[in-house]
Amino acid sequence: MATKSEKEKYRKIAELGCSLCRHLGSEGTPAELHHIRRSGVRSSSPVIPLCPYHHRGSNTSIHGMGRKRFEGEYGISEEQLLEQTLALI
Ligand SMILES: [Zn+2]
Ligand SMILES: [Zn+2]
Repeated sequence: MATKSEKEKYRKIAELGCSLCRHLGSEGTPAELHHIRRSGVRSSSPVIPLCPYHHRGSNTSIHGMGRKRFEGEYGISEEQLLEQTLALI
């Protein structure tokens, strides 16, 4: 279960808009939350905002391409997107 402060943080993160669109030069694309997979429990896994296109698109997204291809294609890693996201909230 996410705590109240976690929910508040998630809301702020989603409001930033897609972190990859921002990296590519356009800010404020409406985003959903993507959980970064690390070892450990899901509820404490960090999240980044990604638009549906970059989150779930078949050949354009982290889930569609897989992390390796995604990171190669866009030249940025999930962890870097997370760092940039956390710097903004
Ligand atoms: Zn995007
Ligand atoms: Zn996801």
